[in-house]
Order: sequence, then C-alpha cells, then structure tokens
Amino acid sequence: MNATRTVAVYSLGGTIAMTADPATAGVAPALSARDLLAAVPGLEGHGIELRVHDVRRVPGAWLTFDDLTELGAAIDAALAAGGVDGIVITQGTDTIEETAFALDLRHGHEQPVVVTGAMRNPTMPGPDGPANLHAAVLTAADPRLRGAGVVVVLNDEIHAARHVRKSHTTSPAAFTSPGAGPLGRIAENRVRLTSALPRRPAALAPPRRRDVRVGLYTVGLGDDGELLAAWEGRCDGLVVAAFGVGHVPLRLVEGLERFSARVPVVLSSRIGNGPVLTGTYGYPGSEKDLIGRGLVPAGDLGPYRARLLLHGLLAHGADRELIAATFAGHAY
Ligand code: ASP
Repeated sequence: MNATRTVAVYSLGGTIAMTADPATAGVAPALSARDLLAAVPGLEGHGIELRVHDVRRVPGAWLTFDDLTELGAAIDAALAAGGVDGIVITQGTDTIEETAFALDLRHGHEQPVVVTGAMRNPTMPGPDGPANLHAAVLTAADPRLRGAGVVVVLNDEIHAARHVRKSHTTSPAAFTSPGAGPLGRIAENRVRLTSALPRRPAALAPPRRRDVRVGLYTVGLGDDGELLAAWEGRCDGLVVAAFGVGHVPLRLVEGLERFSARVPVVLSSRIGNGPVLTGTYGYPGSEKDLIGRGLVPAGDLGPYRARLLLHGLLAHGADRELIAATFAGHAY
C-alpha cells in the first residue's frame, strides 16, 4: 500500500524494549526501535510510513531533563522540516506521566506526539508492547489528533498529558486520567475520540539554564518541619505536596513563609486529583493563609506536574510574576 501518512518513532528504552539479561538474571533495555516495530503484526497494512530513531536504551527512571531537551529539539526539527504527520515515543512507563507533561509544555506544533510503553516485558506471557505501539502509531497518524499536544496511549486508551497518571504498578490498565477520563480509545484499528481535546496554554520558551533544581516536599501527619530546612539553599524553587486542598501542619507555616521570601514556593496537593483551593479555609497552614504568605497555588496541577512547570519556568528565567501568572493560566 502507498503510504499516505508519515509517523516518526523515537525509542528511549523501558520495559517495552527489555530482554533477559543473563548477567543480572533480570530484564534490561536492549531492543531497538526497529526491533519493536518488527514485533507489531499488521502495521505495514495501514499506509503509514515509519521513520525510526533510536535515542536511548535506558529504564524510564534514568531519563534526565537533558534527554528531554535533546528529544524535544529533534522532534521540533523533524516537524519543522515538514512531511511528518505525527510522532511516537516509546519509553519506560515509570516516568511517562512526567515526560509526557514536560514535552507537552514545550510542544508548539499541530502534529500530535504520542508516548507509549509496556507494562509486561517481551519475555512475559501476553506482553502489551506490540499492541500499545500499534495503537500509538494509529493515533499519531490520525488527523483528528492535530492540536492535541502530547498524549499517552496504552491499553487502547488515549490520555491527555495533562491528566494521565500511572495508577497501578503492574496492571496493563495502569494508565488512567483521574477526574477527566480518557480522550478516546482505539478499536478495530480506528481511533474513536470520546472527549474534546484539552485546552493547552501557550508553549513555554526553550530552557536557557540547565542547572535548575526544584525541590519536592511532601507533608505527612505530625511533620515537625525539620526536613523542610534541609532544602534551604539547595533549590531554585520548591513544590509543596500539601494535604487536601492545600494545607500543612502548623509547625511548617513559618518555615514556608521564610522559604518563599527567597525562592518561589508552589502549593500543590499530594492527592493529585482536583484543585488546591485559594479562598476557603482561614487558619494558619490553610491554603488561604499560605497563599497570603507568598506561596503560589498550583491550581489543578498535582505535585509532579507542578514541579515540571516550575522547573520549565525557572529554566528560562521567569520571575515570580510570570510564574504566578503561568500557574494561574494552567488552572481550570
Ligand atoms: N521500570 C520500567 C521503566 O520505566 C517500567 C516500564 O517500562 O514499564 O523503564
């Protein structure tokens, strides 16, 4: 069949690309992008030309901000050159929700970027990698995904980068979009969109600094604030994963106020589903109190996403005003 659509595939490694390693008696990344595509039955029958790029062969947990900057630049160049209708990235599922969101923040093209991986490695019964890659290629080639930004496809479901969570450690149905649901599904080789594409704020400017460090501090019952001090002087910004709608123990309040006088501190919720509030509770350590002391509310962004947005903003030199305005622009 003559190719009518073109999809560029970039492989980074992960379980989808793992085989048995006799040295460790465990599995480790080994397969190339070409190997992965060769394991997908029927792919050649869809009239999609595939351009294949091996970028890394690493576990998801090894990926770095530099890896993403390099990958983002390669994708930008391929899309700017023309002739590519969509992008597929294969990688370890451990970091998919973060890489997808980080890439989405900077993606300024109409063509969709589809991130996929596998929960079951190729040595297991019923590995899901080939089916996920098949569904990802069909999604990337579908013109209705134009403008969708970065999406994640596993288990025949399409999830927006802004909502997707890895919500189970082993299930092939691990990827969900709590509070939003998937954008669509793939069945009988056809993409079926069931929701409107997400609203996407303007793309972030490219990073100018590589040495940005954003801390993540999760509060817990009875926290005495001692460990918050460990972050002081060691980060350019901090995200607090607070209780509920944005609350912290009383003993953290003064430390957080001092912290936010020096670097931006973003208030998010450790629940990871739903917004932090801004004006409901009125006691020390409540969301209203902390925002009054200078913390920036993260809106609906959970702590992992808030950390990535703050990192992206600090990496191109944003000041507090721009940081607060950008978080507000991401809120529903
Ligand atoms: N540990 C693996 C990784 O992220 C898990 C996976 O790919 O599913 O590389």
